[in-house]
Amino acid sequence: MKLVLFGPPGVGKGSQARFLSEREGAVHISTGVLLRRAIRSETELGMEAKEYVESGMLVPGPLVRALAEDAVRATGFKGFVLDGYPRTIEQAEWLDAFLRENESQLDTVISLQVPAEVIIDRLSKRRVDRETGENYHLDFKPPPADLPADRIIQRKDDMPEAILHRLRIYDRDTHPVQDWYRQRGMLQEIDGRGTFEEVYGRIVGAIPTHGSTP
Ligand code: ADP
Repeated sequence: MKLVLFGPPGVGKGSQARFLSEREGAVHISTGVLLRRAIRSETELGMEAKEYVESGMLVPGPLVRALAEDAVRATGFKGFVLDGYPRTIEQAEWLDAFLRENESQLDTVISLQVPAEVIIDRLSKRRVDRETGENYHLDFKPPPADLPADRIIQRKDDMPEAILHRLRIYDRDTHPVQDWYRQRGMLQEIDGRGTFEEVYGRIVGAIPTHGSTP
């Protein structure tokens, strides 16, 4: 299975991509996770990306391109779920060329949609376990009571200023990527509202190769 899971920040694509990959034996590739890991380890890439990620801006394309392409290459082009890449038309073109050069192609692009007010609620109430990366929501999926409080953090880019910034950037730079894939007949739009299981069921139903070997 070779997929892009697409959608605005806070739509739930990270949790869905992670679960889907585990169930289907594919590799979950989240450029956001990879960038935050690089920042924590203070690699050269991490140092360059830090300011952009924490303020909710897009990291310069060439940095993310190398990160995403290395991660896809490492799967042997067998099975992956890309989450957070591509985020611009330029990145979509890079990915397309990269897969072609390697005689590979995406099965489909799944775009999750939810109304803006739901997104703002999800992001501002999101908390993260700094050790496992597990996401929580203060109302719907509160962190377990026995989890030490200092492990539960709020991402800097989940602060109100940065959320607005990310949504503006999404509208301007990332939303047009949907049209790019739609024009190529590769886009499937899915309603991202409802329970995790409901959304998961819709995603699985939209995967053309589902049921055959990945
Ligand atoms: P979300 O989808 O909730 O915004 P991510 O974890 O996917 O969160 O991304 C967090 C941040 O990482 C982005 O705001 C951006 O700074 C950076 N980032 C991730 N993917 C890309 C990308 N493809 N291009 C540029 N920046 C990226």
